[in-house]
Amino acid sequence: MNVLDQPNTMSSFWMPFSANRDFLREPRMIQTAEGMYYTSSDGRKVMDGTAGLWCVNAGHRDPLIVEAVQKQVHELDYAPNFQFSHPQAFELSAKLTAMMPEGMSHAFFTNSGSESVDTALKIALHYHRMRGDGARTRLIGRERGYHGTGFGGISVGGIVKNRMHFGTLLTGVDHLRHTHDPEKNAFSRGCPEHGAELADDLERLVALHDASTIAAVIVEPMAGSTGVLLPPKGYLQRLREICDRHGILLIFDEVITAFGRLGAATASEYFDVKPDIITTAKGLTNGVIPMGAVVVSDKIYASAMENADAPIELFHGYTYSANPVSCAAALATLESYKQNDLFRRAALLSGPWEDQLHSLRDLPNVIDIRNLGLVGAVELAPREGAPGARGYDAMKRAWDAGIMIRVTGDIIALSPPLIISEPEITTLCQTLGEVLVDLP
Ligand code: PMP
Repeated sequence: MNVLDQPNTMSSFWMPFSANRDFLREPRMIQTAEGMYYTSSDGRKVMDGTAGLWCVNAGHRDPLIVEAVQKQVHELDYAPNFQFSHPQAFELSAKLTAMMPEGMSHAFFTNSGSESVDTALKIALHYHRMRGDGARTRLIGRERGYHGTGFGGISVGGIVKNRMHFGTLLTGVDHLRHTHDPEKNAFSRGCPEHGAELADDLERLVALHDASTIAAVIVEPMAGSTGVLLPPKGYLQRLREICDRHGILLIFDEVITAFGRLGAATASEYFDVKPDIITTAKGLTNGVIPMGAVVVSDKIYASAMENADAPIELFHGYTYSANPVSCAAALATLESYKQNDLFRRAALLSGPWEDQLHSLRDLPNVIDIRNLGLVGAVELAPREGAPGARGYDAMKRAWDAGIMIRVTGDIIALSPPLIISEPEITTLCQTLGEVLVDLP
């Protein structure tokens, strides 16, 4: 008897962010993966249109990464990084920070995007304390921001369902308005024209609370999980200027955008805006082993090193921070990006990607299409009285049609591995088009 056929085996796994009851009736199970494709448990080839959860940028089972992990497990499976360490941790932090904007040359390792966000918020608060500016405790997020599921992340995040069932969250948090304006910006190609002035919300919060109480602002340069909401032209620059004017730290949550998604190593590089802290995860290890990293500016690192009131400069860390196997996976992943020139590849493919995506414009119920680098979204009109139902159906039908897409409500997000070819872009978009034509 197949283990999955046994009573309770299926419901014993409480799936994250999933319609568990519906899944049990109609499971979508994955058996193997290679390159751009999964094989489902019923033997079908399914194209990965989302790089897993925005993480498998180098494609599945990249031999460089697989071999590095296997080798590392045989040599050093685990080593603590509290007061001890191992060479891979230092090698990785050097190689990782070399890809980051100039003057951001220190990395703190975590195991996920959520941990990276909570670490970044804590480092921001710690920084002001170290400088004797400890009244700066207020944190500013943004509506429709996703910053993972830790209490810090859901507090600065702006998704009502992720917040409403979990108590009072962090106090002293405010939110900027989100930048999504379909009335003015629908079907923009690349970043939308309208909305840079929304960054001035930060000036209003300064006027309300006084800058001397505000520690940091955290935004995704491009909001991914809430449906690929792109920054209006000039918005991020304006946010940076306001932060500079008032001594507020700017945190870019680059858990999705780092490692080539926009055709550059980071969104910071792509937009030419330098934050004080960058959070990463996902593409750092190509999804093979959980790992995240928080990269900080030299001034933040120096403030801890110079002003710490104890030999240990930051009372924070995780048992698996810089785990040697994670480090080996990350080192091989960065090498694979380099050897295959994947960030440039994403930049080169962004033109055909944009054209193919926008070819879906006239299909039924399509109310917006957005794109940048190798990321895109197709927004559908909600069914009357059932928001999200059309998107959910699209996801299921797409799986049956041989493509994996991700939906947030009625927004379809696409973010394929950066190894995708032009013909595969065509197949992905055509298959999605066929799904949408028949979608009630
Ligand atoms: N921040 C952003 C911008 C993300 O997109 C995500 C994950 N989608 C996270 C944080 C949380 O990452 P994780 O699921 O690894 O905790």
